[in-house]
Amino acid sequence: MNAPLSDSFANGDVSYWYRALGVPEPARRLDGDLRADVAIVGGGYTGLWTAYYLVKADPSLHVVVLEKEFAGFGASGRNGGWLAGLLPGSPRRYAETHGAEAARAFQRELFSAVDEVISVCTAEGIDADVVKGGVFNVARTPAQALRLEQEVEGQHAWGWGPEDVAVVPVDERIRVQGALTASWSPHCARVQPAKLARGLAGVVQNLGVELYEGTEVTGIAPGRVTTARGTVRADVILRCTEGFTATLKDNHRDWLPMNSSMIVTEPLPQRFWDEVGWQGHELLGDFAHYYMYAQRTADDRIAFGGRGRPYLYGSRVDDRGRTHGWTVDALWRLLLGFFPAARSTTIAHAWSGVLGVPRDWCATVGLDRSTGLGWAGGYTGHGVTATNVAGRTLRDLVLGRDTELTALPWVGRRVRKWEPEPLRWTGVHAMYRLYRLADAREAGGVPRTSVLARIADKITGH
Ligand SMILES: Cc1cc2nc3c(=O)[nH]c(=O)nc-3n(C[C@H](O)[C@H](O)[C@H](O)COP(=O)(O)OP(=O)(O)OC[C@H]3O[C@@H](n4cnc5c(N)ncnc54)[C@H](O)[C@@H]3O)c2cc1C
Repeated sequence: MNAPLSDSFANGDVSYWYRALGVPEPARRLDGDLRADVAIVGGGYTGLWTAYYLVKADPSLHVVVLEKEFAGFGASGRNGGWLAGLLPGSPRRYAETHGAEAARAFQRELFSAVDEVISVCTAEGIDADVVKGGVFNVARTPAQALRLEQEVEGQHAWGWGPEDVAVVPVDERIRVQGALTASWSPHCARVQPAKLARGLAGVVQNLGVELYEGTEVTGIAPGRVTTARGTVRADVILRCTEGFTATLKDNHRDWLPMNSSMIVTEPLPQRFWDEVGWQGHELLGDFAHYYMYAQRTADDRIAFGGRGRPYLYGSRVDDRGRTHGWTVDALWRLLLGFFPAARSTTIAHAWSGVLGVPRDWCATVGLDRSTGLGWAGGYTGHGVTATNVAGRTLRDLVLGRDTELTALPWVGRRVRKWEPEPLRWTGVHAMYRLYRLADAREAGGVPRTSVLARIADKITGH
């Protein structure tokens, strides 16, 4: 089935989130050499939060952000707007290296970071359409239902209380067709991603951070960042390029650039919301292997995301968000499966973006004191909140403070690189093919997670 497209349908153009704001033109470009205390490469949430907390802690610091396009060009201006207290990786993995209590401390930090982001938005006057309505997850097959229940039990075993997550009646918040069971957690807020990124970029510049857009970094070495427009010398250089990290020569196989794609509908009429509910502006997710994520936007559309083409050969990154027709069609079919009443609307915009996935599927932040080189990223699709924790952690590392943040188990985490091609492409595509087949089998009613999904988990060490 072909997705019905609006007359004004746009494909790419970075993302729908820039339609109302206008796609920014790079403002100020680097023009010659300069010296700074801290140079940050990448103007997404990671780079901007880090700059924010650094100058808040020490207003005398000279902080420079170098961004190849414009602040918020990457995943930070394209995501699903789940400001969620989710761990960027498995608690089990973090516990393996640092113990269970450290993994729990990390989890608590992410819960509180949701409120930290909201309070900074309020304090700094950033209007990002924030509503803290929690996250509602549904299971639409028996196997998904089992996973949902196991996940909630597992979260309770990791110290989440019933007030943090619970199994709830399926029709309690959002009426999803075919939902068998559901869970809800309050630790999630809806944001308009680009408004958050651009708002933050404005705030940091007002605080004295120098943001150079349209300035691509071509080399990072201790004490020196190279661009075609000049060299920045700095004692500390922080790489905050997430899904684009593979484009940097020395980091090509560090993090896999994984694609995620989204569509957004036209505004839906009141009768649709009367039928479906969704009054609390909860974020909506599911328990399929090829999972989806959605939000009800401030102007009453559904923004609906999932995996399109998961990965491009050779770790190529994206083309300003342009998305293949079959991905748009697949997302549309899935959306109609959830909400048959959405059939009356059309698709206004489709886009994609890249996020960074380390080989062990766990995020990392760190600073090598001997070289002054630092990094943060690899949030595996859970970066909207984790970037805030990363920014505060990099602040503490740069300022040489030993804090609760610098003791968290993702600090200094290093893992092996991804395999060279064609192994990388073959492995990732095999994994997603197996997940798709597993979803299809589970849709047939098998009561447990398909063995195909377990094989996929094994192949990738996910
Ligand atoms: C479609 C999609 C949906 C998502 N949904 C969610 C969600 O709902 N919730 C969630 O928690 N996470 C989500 N994520 C992930 C989340 O958006 C990211 O983890 C997060 O935004 C990463 O922020 P960042 O600043 O590290 O990276 P980015 O926002 O990607 O920023 C990196 C920046 O570096 C710049 N850059 C790259 N190379 C260079 C260079 N050589 N020189 C200078 N600058 C450079 C880029 O232009 C970019 O602006 C989603 C991601 C995508 C793609």
